[in-house]
Amino acid sequence: MEALYDLVVVGAGIAGCTAAREAKAKGLRVAIIDKAQKPATGGSGAAGAFISPKLGSKTELLELTNEAFNYAVRFYTQNYPKYFTKSGIVRIPQTPKDAQNLLYHQSLVDAKSQLLEREELELLGIKNETQALFFEDGGFCEAQELCEALIVGIDYFCIDVQDIDESGEYLLVGKQVKAINVVLATGYRAFGQKLDYMGIKGLWGSRGDFFTDSKLAVSMHKKISVSAVVDGVVKLGATHVKSQSPCMECKGEPLAPLIEASKSMVELENLRIKETFCGMRSGSHDFKPLLGRVIDSAYMLQSYPKIKLGYKKAPLKYCKNLYVFNGLGGRGFVLAPLMAKWLIEYIFEGKELDSRVDANRLFLKWARRLNKLKGDTPKDKNG
Ligand SMILES: Cc1cc2nc3c(=O)[nH]c(=O)nc-3n(C[C@H](O)[C@H](O)[C@H](O)COP(=O)(O)OP(=O)(O)OC[C@H]3O[C@@H](n4cnc5c(N)ncnc54)[C@H](O)[C@@H]3O)c2cc1C
Repeated sequence: MEALYDLVVVGAGIAGCTAAREAKAKGLRVAIIDKAQKPATGGSGAAGAFISPKLGSKTELLELTNEAFNYAVRFYTQNYPKYFTKSGIVRIPQTPKDAQNLLYHQSLVDAKSQLLEREELELLGIKNETQALFFEDGGFCEAQELCEALIVGIDYFCIDVQDIDESGEYLLVGKQVKAINVVLATGYRAFGQKLDYMGIKGLWGSRGDFFTDSKLAVSMHKKISVSAVVDGVVKLGATHVKSQSPCMECKGEPLAPLIEASKSMVELENLRIKETFCGMRSGSHDFKPLLGRVIDSAYMLQSYPKIKLGYKKAPLKYCKNLYVFNGLGGRGFVLAPLMAKWLIEYIFEGKELDSRVDANRLFLKWARRLNKLKGDTPKDKNG
């Protein structure tokens, strides 16, 4: 008899791999599916995978990211120390306003940090900066190896999943894998129209791993991220291009802007390219993660057309046992461990999902926007 899984995860990036690992750790039968032969060939494979707190004004996203930062540091240190270099990370203000607000930004992050002055920065190899914040728990992961390690012992299928058949007793994923529950962790490619209401968008970026003769004990971030030098290798990475055809944008030179930007922070001697990575990372409309059940939006629009006019009381109908794990933005490696924990506890233990990340939050706004796109004016809100 074909195997029946408690959970099938579609997408083997950092989101899918952490979710699969979390479920496996609870003793569940788990499989992971990706269109590629191995994990982390999407945004996750391209990531510099820096584990860095979020600085800025006090927002839900900032609080969430920094809660996840502390969790991620513990998670990687305890479970995957081989793939996490806790180099510490220096956060250099990007603008004069950031520089003025440095102490305020520091006060919003509940993690060990230190204000460094010019002389201390120079000793670390960081030039032309007057002040910066140092977070000793920060660092970076080996993206690909980490994703592989997360799913050791979990069944892996290479299938480009086009549909999930809900018609039988169980879900049938990619026409062959039987599941009770399915998590879509498909990153930038989202998953057909099912996830349209979440407004998943891509942002392109690149990373270069270089050999260098320089010694750099800490990682740093200003406009881009620069890793500490380990075994003579430094990583430079950033995502910043909104584009559907990124390769046209970089004109075959994805690393040129990274090298240029690194020069404003450090002098990296004798850079020789080791490997180049490019990829898309996916983000949501409001930049917060997307977790939880997938609403059957086609059914909802057909059954309650007035939701496009702002009607809010229609009971939500969900796709059968289908969940999403997406929208990790530029901090997938920071957010994924905690979000995976929350998602798996929600699916299998019935724990309430944190409203900041519940993907339901975007459905009604999306439905209203459909109406505006058609040029209709809302008239009747009483469905
Ligand atoms: C250049 C760059 C630098 C970055 N730097 C950092 C950083 O320093 N720190 C940090 O925390 N984050 C960083 N990020 C962001 C981080 O990479 C993303 O947040 C993260 O990769 C999102 O992971 P994911 O699993 O959601 O998506 P992905 O990694 O894109 O994974 C999605 C997977 O789904 C698969 N898939 C899609 N559709 C299907 C289908 N129909 N059937 C089967 N498989 C499918 C894809 O093949 C892919 O493997 C960076 C991103 C980039 C691109």
